Amino acid sequence: MLEQQKVETTKKAYKMLIGGEWCDSKSGGTIDSIDPSNEEVIATVPDGGNADVADAVEAGKAAFVEWRTFGAAKRQKKMYELAHRMEEHIEHFAMLDVLDSGNPLMGMIEDAKKAPQEIRSFANMASELKGTSFETPDDVVCFTVREAFGVVGLIIPFNHPYRFAAKVAPGLAAGNAVILKPSETTSLSALEFAALAVDIFPKGLISVVTGYGHTVGRAIVQHPEIMRLAFTGSVSTGQAIMRDAADHMKRLSLELGGKNPMIVFPDVDIDKAAQGCIKGMNLARSMGQSCQSNSRVFVHEKIYDRFLASLVEKVAKLKVGDPRLETTVIGPVNHKRHYDRIMGFIESGKDQGAKLLTGGVRPALFDKGYYIEPTVFSDVTMEMRIAREEIFGPVVSILKWNDYETVIKEANGTEFGLTANIWTNDLTLANRTAKAMQAGLVWINGAGGRVPGVPFGGYKMSGLGKEGDLSDLLSYTQEKTIITNLQ
Ligand code: NAD
Repeated sequence: MLEQQKVETTKKAYKMLIGGEWCDSKSGGTIDSIDPSNEEVIATVPDGGNADVADAVEAGKAAFVEWRTFGAAKRQKKMYELAHRMEEHIEHFAMLDVLDSGNPLMGMIEDAKKAPQEIRSFANMASELKGTSFETPDDVVCFTVREAFGVVGLIIPFNHPYRFAAKVAPGLAAGNAVILKPSETTSLSALEFAALAVDIFPKGLISVVTGYGHTVGRAIVQHPEIMRLAFTGSVSTGQAIMRDAADHMKRLSLELGGKNPMIVFPDVDIDKAAQGCIKGMNLARSMGQSCQSNSRVFVHEKIYDRFLASLVEKVAKLKVGDPRLETTVIGPVNHKRHYDRIMGFIESGKDQGAKLLTGGVRPALFDKGYYIEPTVFSDVTMEMRIAREEIFGPVVSILKWNDYETVIKEANGTEFGLTANIWTNDLTLANRTAKAMQAGLVWINGAGGRVPGVPFGGYKMSGLGKEGDLSDLLSYTQEKTIITNLQ
């Protein structure tokens, strides 16, 4: 068992970090952080607002003046220092996210390892912030430079709290100050992340303002001096942000929801494909609360029954339990409202004629906590809500197919376009199908894995822009052309 005593959140009143100082919100209000496994309040975080965001912007502007003079090499060095510290606290951050998010320990260990990799990856890219020079007449010099925006905003969701706090990396590497707003239900690891960083960087370079979306989130989006915003969250919030951001013509990147198809061809190893479905659903790491989960699985009619049998057998064995335990595979979902929403989808699946093969209920073992047994529906059709809407929970919908053109049309037949997952041993067919997918990322024979530097981002309503790659870093700069007429 990993050392649980390292995390002592119980009833701790966290403060937020603004301008290098730990402070309460100006309003004095707080938000309870609830452990989703037992519904107990484990800590409080400040309920921030407009005035707190305004302070963070002023502090960020001052820090930016210093940070921009550092140059790429020194920024890189500072970011390595942060990554190094993060690597010394893997278990602590993993357990903090377990308590605050409900995600099981082993998945959060993975997240806590990936977070510093993200910082290192963008630190490595910092030297790529180059302009271009142009061939001109002898008496003219023309080149471009890339300049940071100043203070940028980062708003993140609840499903990978610490891992996503590391999304400060491209903004910092490009030379900006960053204001981070974590989800109101999972703010603790972002605050402790800031505590690790605070003495490495100029005062105010990273501020973390906690609070609700309609208050702190909107204040960040509407602040006239934050010209670049990165948002990860739901489509509807992304739309609201886009509308608000229009007032100041802000530069946006939006990483939004998905209803991602998995297409299983009849030539596959059925057990492997069923296992691949569970992995691609991210059941183990986050109970399917993942934007990239393959929650719509199209299985060819020739193997449909055998695939279902294999999948259900495997899903039923997934160990539901206390997320603190290394042996737990399925923990609770993040919060009560979300639990009720997922249960509502399960009811709608039953009402609309899908067949519930396993799960769909709260496990008998628990009378507290937001636990839902991993759920598989078969006989799903594209008219059903569980085939069209993002559930963001442990619910897999299985659809039967027999015609290639139809399955491609149906796989592309939602408003989303984040990822797709194709299973076949015929790599020609797999690549042809990958090209037909309206999705920003397609996996062939195994979903889930991504290495640092690989672009990620959606087609259609799943988002705007890419993250994780060089274009992400460059998007935190604006390009200026300078033309000199030589005398
Ligand atoms: P959400 O949209 O409800 O909230 C996300 C964040 O936005 C939170 O910090 C919230 O406080 C804030 N927010 C809410 N309203 C706001 C507003 N009007 N202005 C500014 N900020 C506001 O999402 P969630 O429920 O926390 O997360 C689940 C969603 O996130 C799913 O749709 C999932 O697919 C998506 N997601 C996408 C990716 C990706 O990379 N594409 C990754 C993870 C999660």
